[in-house]
Amino acid sequence: MIIENLVRKNILNLKPYVCARDMYSEGILLDANENSIGSVAAGYDELTLNRYPDPHQAELRKAVGEYYGVDEKKLFFGVGSDEIIDLLIRIFCEPAKDAVIILDPTYGMYKVACDINNVETISTNLNDEFQIDFDNIQRDYRNNVKLIFACSPNNPTGNLLKKEDVERLCKLYNSIIVIDEAYIDFSGDNSLINEAGELNNLVVLRTFSKAWGLAAIRLGYCIADEVITRLLFNIKAPYTINSLTKKTALEAIQNNSRKDDFIKLLTSERERVKEELLAIPEVPIVYPSDANYLLFQCENATEVQKSMALDGVVIRDRSSHPMLRNCLRVSIGTVEENNKFLTALKKQICRK
Ligand code: PMP
Repeated sequence: MIIENLVRKNILNLKPYVCARDMYSEGILLDANENSIGSVAAGYDELTLNRYPDPHQAELRKAVGEYYGVDEKKLFFGVGSDEIIDLLIRIFCEPAKDAVIILDPTYGMYKVACDINNVETISTNLNDEFQIDFDNIQRDYRNNVKLIFACSPNNPTGNLLKKEDVERLCKLYNSIIVIDEAYIDFSGDNSLINEAGELNNLVVLRTFSKAWGLAAIRLGYCIADEVITRLLFNIKAPYTINSLTKKTALEAIQNNSRKDDFIKLLTSERERVKEELLAIPEVPIVYPSDANYLLFQCENATEVQKSMALDGVVIRDRSSHPMLRNCLRVSIGTVEENNKFLTALKKQICRK
């Protein structure tokens, strides 16, 4: 597929901003109007916080590329994967003209990011098993659909999408297929990162916010064909990934076994909480989950969620979508938090 044919003309013709640090990063640096004397933040000397960070994300690309065995040219980092969702819409979708397909019920930011950019979203339902429904997509697809967002494991349903379905989607449609793998670390070895770039219209989104436990540093990334990562570099603000974030992420990759320990603990807790929920007669359905949350059904879900919040346990009401009637989503927390959640839920729903 010729990716450039899908790109907005103004983006294709864009002369990107040239950063002060694009050409020279060493020497007497009097080119960027920084404070050469120092920074008011004490204790970070080695980070040179008075200097702008690397716009090319070189160390992160190298470290993450090596860790996952991905060519660093296929990597791009954003301020959370939420930033990359927005950038992809801005590269490919002409406001008030192009459209995006989202596979509902799914993560809410895809639509919000489209709305902000004045790009139409076409909501196409997943099938009853929350898998890609090719008939629905075929019915809704139009030539102005530039992006299709698919989430695997899907938020909030928790299931993986079938890999072969995502690959089929990439081959069937002349659009960019974005597969959001924010929760993939909790699912075993099911990522599509090796397919990104083989299928040049596939973009895989990842984040440090979940399994790595680094939501506060705001770091997401994507793996995609080099043509797409180059476009992302062309349109991003010059210095998006700050030095503190970079340092923390590089340290995290060094300590990656901690992430693996978190995954073990969270997935075993997920299965324990699931069993406990299944044992409650007033909970008719607990959906299988490959993520760090569970979706379950109970009567009067909206009221239950509100009462639990008043009791100090905050979970998410997902019942507004017609396929998720009376569904609540709970993140897997610490063992103690999970127990408190179970107690608070039982207090609201169990008949005496
Ligand atoms: N994708 C999905 C499916 C999510 O659930 C979330 C956050 N809840 C994100 C992306 C955003 O992640 P980030 O923190 O990297 O912006």
